[in-house]
Amino acid sequence: MSDITQHLLSLRHALPPGVDLVAVSKFHPAEAVAEAYAAGQRVFGESREQELRAKHAALPQDVRWHFIGHLQTNKVRAIAPYVSMIESVDSARLLAEIEKQAAACGRVIDVLLEVHVAREETKSGLAPDELRTLLNDGAWRNMPHIRPRGLMAMASNTDNTDTVCADFRAARQLFDEVKAQHFAHDDNFNVRSWGMSHDWPLAVECGSNHVRVGTYIFGER
Ligand SMILES: *Cc1c(COP(=O)(O)O)cnc(C)c1O
Repeated sequence: MSDITQHLLSLRHALPPGVDLVAVSKFHPAEAVAEAYAAGQRVFGESREQELRAKHAALPQDVRWHFIGHLQTNKVRAIAPYVSMIESVDSARLLAEIEKQAAACGRVIDVLLEVHVAREETKSGLAPDELRTLLNDGAWRNMPHIRPRGLMAMASNTDNTDTVCADFRAARQLFDEVKAQHFAHDDNFNVRSWGMSHDWPLAVECGSNHVRVGTYIFGER
């Protein structure tokens, strides 16, 4: 059994029921993705348009590709025909562009709104008030080609588990708030995407039901 297969199976075994796994394959070759595919994995995360395009062409068509990196509006058109979910929506402008490009290819694209809960200035995502403004503004309600599925977040980059846990709990609170205010009757809005290789067990403890794990499965980048 290869290392990739072994790590994938042990991770699957460790994840509680109801927690989905995105295998983050960025910077690893298509052959590595193919190994994970052979072991049954179907959902993969990529953070660059060109790299995603090459792997999409090389892998079977039933792979579900999630875009997880910062996405420039001028790159949306290229991924719209096939991307399954865009997890990193961080502006109203990006959301409108996804609607436009999804409509142009007759698709509905799942999206997560990325929220900034970490203590660092550098992390991307919408500040809590920006998230509230975007949702209250309501333009998204007239976007039939996007399907809001939930929130994505990253914790502060620190070994201090109290800090990391507080970040994840803040994401959970925001999720509950916007779910109640805007999506109470929308069963599709149910994804809480937080947790990576080093912090996913803590993330799951703090309400994640969707983890994005790269290094643990594929090795160092
Ligand atoms: C790279 C990346 C991951 C995976 O991180 P690992 O530490 O390799 O598990 C998860 N989420 C996002 C947004 C990433 O860019």
